[in-house]
Amino acid sequence: MSAVLPLSTTSTETPTVSSVSTTAQQILQVDALTVSFDGFKAVDGLSLSIHRDELRVIIGPNGAGKTTLLDMICGKTRPTSGSVRFNGRELVGLPEHEIVRAGVGRKFQTPSVYEDLTVIENFEISIPGKQDVLGSVFFRRSRDVQDRIRAVAEQVFLQSMLQHKAGRLSHGQKQWLEIGMLLIQSPELLLLDEPVAGMSPRERELTGELLQRIARGKSVIVIEHDMDFVKRIASKVTVLHQGRVLSEGSAAQVQCDPRVIDVYLGH
Ligand code: ADP
Ligand code: MG
Repeated sequence: MSAVLPLSTTSTETPTVSSVSTTAQQILQVDALTVSFDGFKAVDGLSLSIHRDELRVIIGPNGAGKTTLLDMICGKTRPTSGSVRFNGRELVGLPEHEIVRAGVGRKFQTPSVYEDLTVIENFEISIPGKQDVLGSVFFRRSRDVQDRIRAVAEQVFLQSMLQHKAGRLSHGQKQWLEIGMLLIQSPELLLLDEPVAGMSPRERELTGELLQRIARGKSVIVIEHDMDFVKRIASKVTVLHQGRVLSEGSAAQVQCDPRVIDVYLGH
């Protein structure tokens, strides 16, 4: 890794990305977010904002702070300082379930589905509120709910797998199931940590299309390494390095940013 990288958080040439309207309303505003683990700043004064209907890709070398950033947005890790505003509401300090209820859905790096349950059962238990209401099982099995499950299953390419045990799905299909389990909860913002890891090229292609469809009507932040995948799906890319924003712009713009090239060649 180069030790002399200019780590300015503001890019000199402000990139404009045609598909992101400057008048679009912001849904997420991260401001000067910092977390320090025993004095080590995994995320260091990071600011970014996401618009409605935006699909933002975050890239960066291992240890750049990408997962930690998502951990702080979803309430898993409490920042040392800084703020995360979602629809104008401060999320820092809220418990994780409140952040989910506010409309933020998080998918972790390794898929966590219930392997012993069928695909449809995995969807059913993801429906919000099911646990709270006695007797709601019948409601959840109602036509409306089943239609919704089918629609989501189709969206995530699992319509023919509904009766299969989740444990028998391929790694890629498990990733899709988990994305579907988030979609069932109708979040306004989805946080996806390396959703195409372990996927075949064909599965990656389908996932790219899926994420672009999801981002019509929702906002999505996706962490990804594969630059071909990133180029295919992203309108705007944020590059993290050492807990800070190193560069931001279209995939093509960040790819030819000398600071980004330095960091990646340094690895
Ligand atoms: P990325 O997802 O970009 O690969 P991470 O966000 O997982 O990076 O980690 C960023 C840095 O913070 C790494 O150096 C990692 O070792 C460190 N880190 C992450 N979580 C913790 C923790 N709970 N305690 C101490 N260090 C951590
Ligand atoms: Mg990570």
